[in-house]
Amino acid sequence: MAKKKLDPNFSNEKILEVIRDYSNDTIYFKDAHSRFVWNNRSHAAQFGVSDPREMVGKTDADYFPKDFAARSKREEMEIMETRIPLISNIEKLEKPDGSIVWYSASKYPIIDENDKVIGTWGISRNITALKIVEEELSRTNEKLKRLSQVDDLTGLFNRRYFYEMIEKTASQYDRRNYKKKNDPDDTFSLISLDIDFFKKINDEFGHNKGDDVLRLVAGILTSQCRKSDMVFRIGGDEFMMLLPDTPLKGAKKQAERVRLALSEAPIVLDERSTPVRLTASMGISCYKDSSNVADLIHTADDRLYTSKNLGRDRAT
Ligand code: GH3
Ligand code: MG
Repeated sequence: MAKKKLDPNFSNEKILEVIRDYSNDTIYFKDAHSRFVWNNRSHAAQFGVSDPREMVGKTDADYFPKDFAARSKREEMEIMETRIPLISNIEKLEKPDGSIVWYSASKYPIIDENDKVIGTWGISRNITALKIVEEELSRTNEKLKRLSQVDDLTGLFNRRYFYEMIEKTASQYDRRNYKKKNDPDDTFSLISLDIDFFKKINDEFGHNKGDDVLRLVAGILTSQCRKSDMVFRIGGDEFMMLLPDTPLKGAKKQAERVRLALSEAPIVLDERSTPVRLTASMGISCYKDSSNVADLIHTADDRLYTSKNLGRDRAT
């Protein structure tokens, strides 16, 4: 194959000039003592130096903050020792004015024809804009995640999150292998709660007032809980309370507290009529007495319906 003739416009000098003067990425070459041998304009411009040649013989310590320069030097020593390049390393630089610049930096060893390491060279790209977008995206993701766990109407956790959390809690207790430890208190409980005759509130006062009541109940349930407890709205007028580190006895006490708090909160829905007395029925189950999560939920729901059938306003 005939060798193609190189375009004479592209001399080594020309190529080097382009890299020096027109690359937006910062490029530098350093000797074995991490002193600059050659750098391009972009690299010099970071420090307000217009002619990169001024920097020859200097080190990072002359320009960068102390800790950044020290880390950089350590990296270069290691690269020279191991001959392993550092590729696309994300670097954070805090400027003296407090602003933050992010770089994606790669550094390589320079090896001469006698196979001796004579220095390092590196190329860095300012990725600050990308980082800002990434941080915004991760904040948005966090927000979306929170939204996907929350019930719009009450602000409580929702049904989907309930199933996620109950499985998670159960597997935590399973891992602790609490059954073997034989500590009756090392378990968690569940209270299933449904408002009594809620339909009547909707029918008499309208759906909006019904919504107000659901929010009010959500507030009452939350106020009766410990920090570690979780309250969920499963749907309609149905709620669940997940009580970690709570045996059945403790959950019964908790249900009684909730019942009392509901009864002590006369609800004024209409100035003309008497305050409505709100009650709820509950079913309590304990993980220790259940064979699995489905059984735990099923038992709580079953007992809730027992409460309904026994006349409501009670916990079973
Ligand atoms: P029970 O004592 O047997 O529980 O009687 P209930 O009237 O409370 O009946 P049930 O729990 O079966 O019905 C719940 C009602 O809640 C049904 C529906 O009209 C109403 N509901 C469901 N979701 C909402 C909501 O988001 N807002 C309002 N205002 N009402 C709702
Ligand atoms: Mg109901």
